[in-house]
Amino acid sequence: MKHSVDITQCPKCAAKELGRGKHAGYAAIYPINKMSLGSEVEHIICIECGFIIESYVKKPEKFKGTIF
Ligand SMILES: [Zn+2]
Repeated sequence: MKHSVDITQCPKCAAKELGRGKHAGYAAIYPINKMSLGSEVEHIICIECGFIIESYVKKPEKFKGTIF
């Protein structure tokens, strides 16, 4: 997974130490109108205040065509 902008600091508390977590299994996100497997969700988290700075689904292409 590549992201063009690197986050280096928490926008809430300015802590510079960030962690990475993921939802998996039953907490996966599923496309709303498709019979499809879901995608895991990955978060960039501030390890100081717990703020979730960014969330990504790992397979965004699964969500194509779910808005109409
Ligand atoms: Zn923070």
